[in-house]
Amino acid sequence: MTKVGETVLEIDLRALEHNYHYLRSKINPETKFLGVVKAFAYGSDSIAIAKKLESLGAEYLAVAYTSEGVALRNAGIKLPILVLHAQEVSFATMIENCLEPSLYSRAIFSSFLKMAKDLGQRDYPVHLKFNTGLNRLGLGEKDIDFILASLEGVDQIKISSLFSHLAASEDLNERNFTISQIEQFEKISSAVLSKLKYRPKRHMLNTSGIINYPEAQYDMVRSGIGLYGYGNEAAEDEKLIPVATLKTIISQIHRIEPNESVGYNRAFVSNTSKVTATLPLGHADGIGRQYGNRIGQVCVHGKLAPIIGNVCMDMIMVDITGIDCKEGDEVIVFGQEQSAQDLASSAKTITYELLTGISQRVKRVYID
Ligand SMILES: *Cc1c(COP(=O)(O)O)cnc(C)c1O
Repeated sequence: MTKVGETVLEIDLRALEHNYHYLRSKINPETKFLGVVKAFAYGSDSIAIAKKLESLGAEYLAVAYTSEGVALRNAGIKLPILVLHAQEVSFATMIENCLEPSLYSRAIFSSFLKMAKDLGQRDYPVHLKFNTGLNRLGLGEKDIDFILASLEGVDQIKISSLFSHLAASEDLNERNFTISQIEQFEKISSAVLSKLKYRPKRHMLNTSGIINYPEAQYDMVRSGIGLYGYGNEAAEDEKLIPVATLKTIISQIHRIEPNESVGYNRAFVSNTSKVTATLPLGHADGIGRQYGNRIGQVCVHGKLAPIIGNVCMDMIMVDITGIDCKEGDEVIVFGQEQSAQDLASSAKTITYELLTGISQRVKRVYID
């Protein structure tokens, strides 16, 4: 084990490669693969991840916001990049950087078309997003005629894809609802396709969609969490490898006596003699207050040590009573030893939130 000396997020690009091949094995060879790298590639590093996905042969990338796509272009990423939550203020920047908007309302569609005309674009690739039940972003069936009429005689933009997003692909109790979303998408997308002289791609599945509804893979799938090693269910987690490992070290060890307290507001008061370790990461690094007071645990030499007292901004204290360790030793907060899924669920949240919350203060290191 290499000594890290400080808090680091280790990013294992070999794990990414494994997960990519595993997810691809679930779909037809001709189905395209879009890697979702929004939110710093789920809290890891969007540039390192995007470069690796590009080298592995992924056909598309997606980010949530324009600034995330600009960062990828500045780093030399050449793949087409879909911006899932395109906003009018950044349309000019998008076009300058060859970023492709998701157009999800009549207003957004019309204003992007106007921008493409003003900037003299030709066949600029755009994506039409349809709402089939998530009720978050998306055009509806009632907007189809408007969109088709607006496209008459237009050569400034070209519809690259039609897509929708599932609300509960990981929850098999919602199977009927998901099937109705797929049927709704089939109906809407077929109506649009039948009126166009060219054939945009269609896509609908996120990671759990790939696993549970491969019959709806259409021409492309969009995976995020699976690439990072989590499958939203135990059987899939076993097949995937976590890409990110949050490691830290023991800065100081204290022996405390009965009735002594640990941390701010004396939230932990010991009734026995204990040994505590102070670790250099806190809520400013993404380990929120909800993990304090024995909710979350970290892994010290393979043994779980609960977080005691309140989480501080830059530190946590853990109970290492009975664990053989010393100052400077390595501690795993989450990763391949204790999964981010386990830590997140201890605090009643989801892997997505824990991963994306790891702040930019934490140094990223890479294994390839
Ligand atoms: C974030 C996102 C995804 C990826 O979802 P995962 O569950 O992480 O695979 C796919 N599509 C859209 C529209 C998204 O916003």
